[in-house]
Amino acid sequence: MIKWEALDKPKEFRGLGFIDTRAMNSALLCKWIYSIESGDKLRRSFLWRGRKDARGGHCLVAWGKVTRPLELGGLGISDLKHLCWALRMRWVWLKKTEPHRPWAALPIQIPGQVYAFFSIAVISEVSNGNHTLFWTDRWIHGQCIADLAPRLLEAIPKRRVKQRTVQEALTGRSWVLDIKGARTVGVIVDFLHLWELLYNFELEPDVEDVHIWRFSASGKYSAKSAYEGFFQGSTEFGPYERIWRTWAPPKCRFFLWLVAHNRCWTADRLACRGLPHPVQCPLCDQEDETINHLLVSCVFARQFWYLLLRQVGLHSLSPQPSDSSFDIWWEKAIRATSGLMQKGLNSLIVLGAWTLWNHRNRCVFYGITPNLGELSPLLEKSAGCGV
Ligand SMILES: [Zn+2]
Repeated sequence: MIKWEALDKPKEFRGLGFIDTRAMNSALLCKWIYSIESGDKLRRSFLWRGRKDARGGHCLVAWGKVTRPLELGGLGISDLKHLCWALRMRWVWLKKTEPHRPWAALPIQIPGQVYAFFSIAVISEVSNGNHTLFWTDRWIHGQCIADLAPRLLEAIPKRRVKQRTVQEALTGRSWVLDIKGARTVGVIVDFLHLWELLYNFELEPDVEDVHIWRFSASGKYSAKSAYEGFFQGSTEFGPYERIWRTWAPPKCRFFLWLVAHNRCWTADRLACRGLPHPVQCPLCDQEDETINHLLVSCVFARQFWYLLLRQVGLHSLSPQPSDSSFDIWWEKAIRATSGLMQKGLNSLIVLGAWTLWNHRNRCVFYGITPNLGELSPLLEKSAGCGV
């Protein structure tokens, strides 16, 4: 007999030139990974430099953080790797819920992470048990056997684990015959536990199994819910609403996003990297420059905020000498107001912070003297904004 691998070879290598689906899948996977990496490099370069050749030093925030949703501290740019995983999960979902499709039996190259996510995302309600896997699916009160009897699962051959349906396993309790490994005390304890759970379980031969997608209200798979599912359990980004729900222009919001991540090139960060930096704060020339000092605890900044907020009658909210964190002062000021006034004040603070930063840059790079008169355009405009 001729081996199948020999037939897969090209004709010039004495094969029949059949398509080797595994090799093709691997080639497609390599191309996919390469496309993601090169696509990410281009997007990263465009974001930080507006060109295609940005280097590590140009990128102020790690790309993994940039591609998180807004409420998790990113810019809401899609993470291509997770997006591709979410899309590829559709094949696994269709294989499970529509097993009669003609391609369902073909091997599909899916990363292990997709299967791992799928296994926690789907709960099966067993009726006839034909399309639910006994050893791997979550079908016993929303749990799988890996959760309920992990030591017993280790005693089952891998091939059986992947193929045994609930219907096959429960007919004549043939799942007991699948146990091939050593009967240790742990295996026996898990076996008895599983036996007890399944003792009164009965199949309904005329009713199909139902598979429920946990990450959407409808119980059906969607690429959006799968993509969002990859961020489940992530820590929420505190200043998210204050930064992005304002009337301030996008460039100001982007600056505040950098402030929240402490990624502005103030003297403390420049000094850490051994780069030239101002010895003292360029605005007050009294203290070391940090982003918190520059925006809230600097004498110049406090005076600026007082004058700015006085024009809208909110000078009582201006920072006090005890305020040392811009983020904490910002939240405190916002909480003191509500409704439209809150949104107006928030926008004013975003604009004010951006103006202070620009003024600081003019002092550093053009050598001008700090002067509140230079900031008068904003001080005058805010009087008419109706806050
Ligand atoms: Zn200062």
